[in-house]
Order: sequence, then structure tokens, then C-alpha cells
Amino acid sequence: MRTPPSILTDTTTVDVDRSDTGYDAWVQQAIRAVNADAQRTADTHLLQFPLPAEWNIQLYLKDESTHITGSLKHRLARSLFLYGLANGWIRPGVPVIEASSGSTAVSEAYFARLIGVPFIAVVPRSTSSEKTRLIEFAGGTVHYVDDARTVSSESMRLAEETGGHFIDQFTYAERATDWRGNNNVAESIFRQMAEEPHPEPTWIVTTAGTGGTSATIGRYVRYTQRATRIAVADPENSCFFDGWLGGNAQERCETPGRIEGIGRPRMEPSFLPSVIDRMMKVPDAASIATIHALQARMGRMAGGSTGTGLWAALRIIAEMRSRGESGSVLTLLCDGGERYVDRYYNDEWLAEQGIDTTPYRAMIDELLDA
Ligand SMILES: *Cc1c(COP(=O)(O)O)cnc(C)c1O
Repeated sequence: MRTPPSILTDTTTVDVDRSDTGYDAWVQQAIRAVNADAQRTADTHLLQFPLPAEWNIQLYLKDESTHITGSLKHRLARSLFLYGLANGWIRPGVPVIEASSGSTAVSEAYFARLIGVPFIAVVPRSTSSEKTRLIEFAGGTVHYVDDARTVSSESMRLAEETGGHFIDQFTYAERATDWRGNNNVAESIFRQMAEEPHPEPTWIVTTAGTGGTSATIGRYVRYTQRATRIAVADPENSCFFDGWLGGNAQERCETPGRIEGIGRPRMEPSFLPSVIDRMMKVPDAASIATIHALQARMGRMAGGSTGTGLWAALRIIAEMRSRGESGSVLTLLCDGGERYVDRYYNDEWLAEQGIDTTPYRAMIDELLDA
């Protein structure tokens, strides 16, 4: 008698099971460690910049310097790690690799240590020992390249060689961040604004390094159907402004910029021009004059990119004043100024760079004290 055909032993179906319960268990505890870290952590403050009360305009700074790793890249690093873990790209015992000598590498080294994987930052040989020390202090290893243009290709090569993962902030920043909420920076801002005189800002001003912050906030205001408009302030020697203006994704600019963390030589994949309503090209001297004014008026030191965004926010406020409008404007305090005392807060460095902050400082004082 013939046995009836069995679905279990059917040989015409091709069946490969690669489930890896060991990896699943590892990923679960890694994600739990990242979430537990968030659970232990408070949200960042929304500070008020002092403006004359009779203007009926409020200016806010979302203070991202108060993250454990000191900058807005803390949010990005958390998102990139969760994305890499959920995708199965980050694996035990092999490194996470990034092409960054700045805040991103510091924050990513922190999360790598948290989940127990090695972290390698690929940096140009010219990177200051001050910066590499911060990465190493956070638990990372520094890998030097002679030609700064090869940091990405070398990161890819290292990932291949070690079986590790090139986490690639410039490609994945915009998609790793939950755009509809989940306590992203935009949702946090609007929650904190709820009881303010003008809870829906007329403008939110960001800067762009990866472009992830402007993409996240821009998509969120559309998705939540708010009237808030998005402005991005770009420093000297960055291609974002021209690329946005001309709609040219191939825009290039080879001279390196001086405002750390922002401005890029090419249109990065995470920079989304279509969510941006307005852009400003801000002189470096204006960015630096603005962080000096911030220190004088709020007692806080910030990095140069905060000055770039705040300068643009002040210009928008001057425009609202001239039209007799009331409302609120919001920008970000991206990182603290302690890392830059020998640059932006150092008269010798400013003179060497030919940066004269005087006229810009006078314009800020004229606006705020007139
Ligand atoms: C990365 C960075 C920015 C810009 O943020 P993106 O989301 O990458 O565009 C601004 N300031 C500092 C200090 C940064 O490190």
C-alpha cells in the first residue's frame, strides 16, 4: 500500500532554516540594554532665551548638550544602534565602525560599550589628539587614514575584513530615526511647548550635518499637520545651501568648513531638501559672534553650530518684529562650548582665521537692546 504524501517530507519544496536563537537572545539583551539606558535618562531641557517681554515673541533652545555624551548625536547614535540591531547588522564580538572624528563617534562608542561590542572610529590622520582622546575615553578605538577622502571606503573595507558593521551616519541618519514620534526630538519639542504662549513655533531652525535633525523635524510637522515652518542655517564652505537652492543633488564644495558638526562637501543621503522651507547661508563670524552673545546673555557656552542656528533664529525674530508679528521661534543648542575653548572662544585662533565677530555682535546687541 502506498503511504499518503506528506507535506513534511515533500522534496519539491526548497526549505532553508537559518534561525539563530543564540543571536536572537543576544539582540534581545542588547536592545534591552539600550532601552534601559534611555529609561535611566531624563529628557533634555527646553531653555528660554531672554527677549523683551513686550515683543510677545518667545525664543527657545532645545538643549541637546545635556545628553550623557554631550550632543544631539546621542539621539542619532541610539537610533542607529537600535536600527542596526533590529536589522541584524550588529553582531556580538565584531566591531561597529564609523567614519567620524567628532560627536557621532563619541556617542556611538558609548552605545557600543553599553551592548559590549568593539567600536572603531575611522578618522583622518590630521585629527587632533583632543578629539581622539574623547573617542578613546568613551571606549572606542581610533583607526587613521592618510587621505581624509577615504574614511568611508576604509570603513567599508574594515567592516568586510572584520565581519563588522559600518553604521554610516550620513546614509542612515534620516531613516533610523522614528519619524512619526517615539520620543524623537520633534515629539519631545512639541510636548515641552504645550503650555507656552505660542505652543506651535512659527519657525523651527536647525543646522545640517547628516541632515537627520531637519528631516526628522520637517517630516514630523507635516505628519502632525502643524503650521510650523522649517529653516536650515548652513555655514560657509558647505554645499547644502546651493544644493537645496538649485535642486542639485550633485552639488560639491571641497574647502573644509570651520563650524564643527555641520556643513558638508556633498549632498549627503540623509539631507532631505523637500522638507525644508527656507535656508540661510550664515557667515562663520556671525555664528561665532552669536555663541559669544549666548554666553553673555545666558551664561552658557555652546559649539559653533548652535551659533549658526541661533543667528538665523534671531534674524527671523527681527523680521517678525519688523512686521509686528508675535509668535515663537525654536532652535537647538547642539553641543556645549567646552570642547571649543581653544577655537571659538580664543581670540588668537579667531585672529589667525581672520574672523572678526565685532560687526555681527553689534547687530545682535542692536536687535536685543534697542
Ligand atoms: C551633527 C551635528 C549637527 C547637525 O545635526 P544633523 O542631524 O546631523 O544634521 C549640529 N551640530 C553639531 C555639533 C553636530 O554634531
